[in-house]
Amino acid sequence: MAQLPWHKSLQQALVQRQTDGLYRYPRLRQGPQGVNVKVDGQAFISFCSNDYLGLANHPEVVKAFQKAADQEGVGSGAAHLLTGHSQYHHELEMALAAFTGQQKVMTFATGYMANLAVIDGLMNRGDVVIQDKLNHASLLDGSRLSQATLYRYAHNDMASLHQRLHQTANIERKLIVSDGVFSMDGDMVALPELMALAKQHHAGVVIDDAHGLGVVGDAGKGTLQYFADQIAEKPILVGTFGKAFGTAGAFIAADELIIETLTQHARSYIYTTAPPPAIAAATLAALQINQHDDAYRQRLQARIEQFRQGASQLGLKIMASQTAIQPILIGDDKQALKLGQQLEEHGILTGVIRPPTVPKNTARLRITLSAAHTEVQVNQLLSALEQCHVH
Ligand code: PMP
Repeated sequence: MAQLPWHKSLQQALVQRQTDGLYRYPRLRQGPQGVNVKVDGQAFISFCSNDYLGLANHPEVVKAFQKAADQEGVGSGAAHLLTGHSQYHHELEMALAAFTGQQKVMTFATGYMANLAVIDGLMNRGDVVIQDKLNHASLLDGSRLSQATLYRYAHNDMASLHQRLHQTANIERKLIVSDGVFSMDGDMVALPELMALAKQHHAGVVIDDAHGLGVVGDAGKGTLQYFADQIAEKPILVGTFGKAFGTAGAFIAADELIIETLTQHARSYIYTTAPPPAIAAATLAALQINQHDDAYRQRLQARIEQFRQGASQLGLKIMASQTAIQPILIGDDKQALKLGQQLEEHGILTGVIRPPTVPKNTARLRITLSAAHTEVQVNQLLSALEQCHVH
């Protein structure tokens, strides 16, 4: 396309991003994802995958995918409501309803789309959405799409949430939205307090448990199960498959009225091709492994404890997280980038997370642990952190 007058400002913005140490560079992986990966030609032990239970390459999950693809081909051919919805999607939704103890479930191609749907499908202009400041970007985008008025409260701060609820007391339709396990900090929502406030103020609640499912709660049932004996009612739940379930896609679980409403109104459900049936089949296999074999979760938990103990001994700035997400706070963007590169020279791959993904001056190395990591590999990570003088 011909150069337009404003192309120059695009170029300047890219250069500025580089100067600020905020540029994101795409990387190319050779071979399968997992704990041992090859990226841009170099071998690493990876600590930046969300495959928390190591199910992405599990033979049963791969086999289920292959079998369904042999039967049904790859593409679903159409949107869910226009024959794209297969028997595999249906079975997965039924199994997830039983797993979550909710009336009904609908599935999506990605968590991003489920989060757009759950807010856009329920809220309209004039309604109010109240979100934790550290919620995932897709939840904020869901608010934007809905055109409801967005309020944010200080991270996991129930006094701040209370204030927002007071401020919006005259609005009938209010929805409180929070991550279950926060994606960049790894901590958990104060769910019992949040649910009590919601009840008091007649607000709906959505919990995005992308990072809690498969990791916390009995049988990996996530944040809602973790707090089960402290909450009387279940919030609307969003879960994703691209993390602990090792596949791709997402679901919303809620009562029938909510799911019917979303089915009729959520644009990111209606106007998009259903994910491949084989993905649903693979997810069903992963769900069964997750439910029936606690060994994966126990291994993950052992690695989490090993890392936290070692990191405290090294005096690293770890956060109050008991989950697979174990960030080390660095602060300065360029310093975080430099440490990330030094760790790579030691064969360790971590996520270097900078604004706008996290607030300014809170750049961090986001370390994610998996049941697939060995004790030796976590020791290698700790030793590399020590040698790179990460403080
Ligand atoms: N919610 C949270 C909390 C996430 O961390 C993510 C992905 N990183 C998503 C939703 C989006 O899920 P997906 O990758 O399936 O689009």
